Formats: sequence, C-alpha cells, structure tokens
Amino acid sequence: MKITGITTFLLSDTLDESFYFSQFEYASRLICVVKVTTDEGIVGWGEGYGPAEVIRSAINFFAPLVIGRNPLQGEVIWQDMHRRALDYARKGVMLSALSAIDIALWDIRGKALGQSVSTLLGGRFREKVEVYATGLYFTQAHACGNMQAKLADEALLYKSQGYRAIKMKVGLGVRTDIDNVTAVRKALGAGGEIKLMVDSNHAYTFREAFELARALEPLRIHWFEEPLAPDDYAGYRELRGRTTIPLAAGECEFLRAGFRQLLEGRCVDFIQPETCAAGGITEAKKIADLAYAHYVEMTPHNWGTGIAVAANLHLTANLCYPPGRMHANQPLLEFDRSPNRLREELLAHPFKATDGCLTVPTAPGLGIEIDEEKLLHFSQPPRAS
Ligand code: MG
Repeated sequence: MKITGITTFLLSDTLDESFYFSQFEYASRLICVVKVTTDEGIVGWGEGYGPAEVIRSAINFFAPLVIGRNPLQGEVIWQDMHRRALDYARKGVMLSALSAIDIALWDIRGKALGQSVSTLLGGRFREKVEVYATGLYFTQAHACGNMQAKLADEALLYKSQGYRAIKMKVGLGVRTDIDNVTAVRKALGAGGEIKLMVDSNHAYTFREAFELARALEPLRIHWFEEPLAPDDYAGYRELRGRTTIPLAAGECEFLRAGFRQLLEGRCVDFIQPETCAAGGITEAKKIADLAYAHYVEMTPHNWGTGIAVAANLHLTANLCYPPGRMHANQPLLEFDRSPNRLREELLAHPFKATDGCLTVPTAPGLGIEIDEEKLLHFSQPPRAS
C-alpha cells in the first residue's frame, strides 16, 4: 500500500456568541483537518491543534516526505518527519502538523488491518472512558450580569447531564476567581461528589497562583491546571510543594523530551498532552509510558473536532496507571462543551456522553465516519493574505 495524497481542509465557523478566557476571545472556530489517501482506496483522517493556517502550511511542508510511503511504516515515517523538522520544531505548531498526519496514518493502519486504533495500541483497559465537561468560559453577558449565578447554572446543567467532573476557567484576577469558584462549588455541593477542576491557562505569576491556590484549598479542587507559565518548571515544582491542590499541565508541552522536564522535575500531579499537537498518537503513547515510569497520571487535553475526540478516546482507553489496584483510579478525558459546530457536525455520528462517559469506537481505525458534505460546508477555500 502506498500513500498517494494529502489534502488539508481549513474548517471555520463563526460563533453565534463569542466567549473568552484568561488569554483572548473566541469569535469563531478554525481547525485544520487532513485527509490522507492511499492507492488501495483507504483514507485516513487527522487533525492538528492550534493555528489552522500555519498547520496547513506545515502539513504541506511534510507532504513530500510522506507521499509514496507505505502507511504501515508509521513509526518510520514519524521519525523521518521529526528529523526533518527538528532544527525548527522542537516545540510548536509544526508538531501539530506532524501529529495530524500521524493520526491519519493510524486511522489508515487500523482500516487496513481491520482493527481499531486502541486495539493496535495494545488494547482497551476500558470500553467507556469517563470524561469531564470543559466549559464555564466567560461571555460579555457574564460581565454585565451576575457572573457567579451564570457559571453556577452552567455547572448544574452539566451535572444534570450526567457529568461527574467539571472544569471551569479562572484567570480573571484572584479575587474574581475566588468568588466564581466558591459559587460553583457551592452549587455543585461541598461534599466533592462532583469533581471540580480550575484552569487559569498560565495566567498567573507565582505569587498570584499561590494566593489563589491557598484560597481554593477548602473547596475540594481536583486539580489546578496551568497556574503558571508553561516554561516555569521551577515555579511548578515549588507551588506543588506549597499547596494541597494537585497541579496539572502539559497542553503547551510537546514530545517526550518536553514532558520529561515536567516529570523529572516532579512539577505536576497530572500531565495533559494534546494528541493533536504533542506528536500524534505515536508520541502520546510514549509520553504515557514516560508518565507511567514517573508514577504520574495522564489525562489528555482534548479540544477539537470529533477526529480529535476519537484519537484521544483510543489513547485514553489504552492508558494504565501504576502501581494499580483492584479499584484503581481511572483516567479522565477532557470533553469540551463550549460552542463548536465543527465538533458537533463533522462526524456522521457525533460523540455523545452518557452518564459522563464516552464509548470507545470499535470499528477499524479511529472508528469514525466523516460527513463529507459537512466537511465541504465548513471548508474555507485557500486565500492569499
Ligand atoms: Mg487547559
């Protein structure tokens, strides 16, 4: 079998209402999806996380290395792409492009062999993966009205839908964050039966993050995500030693070498690689092995279309936490609930959580079917800038 073509699609959708978090505002969704075709008619789908137009360019950079190759040689192709880009891409969006191609090759291999990606990874430790609802972003309506009440209502909506774990945004300033998190925790119940995580998206200095963490400690926070700048490894290590709230990070980290810094530094309790950026399924599996060797739990970041959800689901189904026990901790997968028609409509059969869990597809490859009419509907034509 030979790879015969690589086609990129820039999918875009304008949101009915923009939303924002600690860093910037989202008014639209823009995602780069890749389709890899073969001479046997098997196609694979992948997706890159990050600035879509840059990822498209980087996929085009890698394409000549990949076209003509045997897709069953995925590890070899991965190494060739990595080595070709190493001088420019130890981190960053070129690795999102590599990830997108890698995911598509896993999809092809699964279809060619008649096996799901999770089977090819070594099997599923679980057929259903518990997911947490990511939401509780901010809108202008929040700023004008009672922000705490609106956030609490949204959290209660997720609880009513069956989610047992919910992540909210912080990073608007320590005082505002404390008020918001206190309101949400009170609405969800102080007992902690619903896990509540907070995510500042690296909004804070050490002093601010420490102040916020100490204030939130009585509120049973399951983890504090990206309290500090991604490169502040020493800050993470120190903060982890000074708060009882577990720390999480890794959505801005790449490759084994990047995660090694977080792990060897004992910086976090949870690592959060994004399969569509950190190096694809090939590398995410190795990052999981590295986390295993450091006795750190892995809970993948997941913020894209149904292609990303599928890739992360197969990976999470295959995760195993050491040392293990009869009733071991189960990995949580992120399930973004913020408005995204690309996530909801690109697949012929979109993922729906039931009782806070997603079922891992068992059909060959990623086990998804792209609605190609919708793909074209959302696709932007190439444009000069
Ligand atoms: Mg995050």
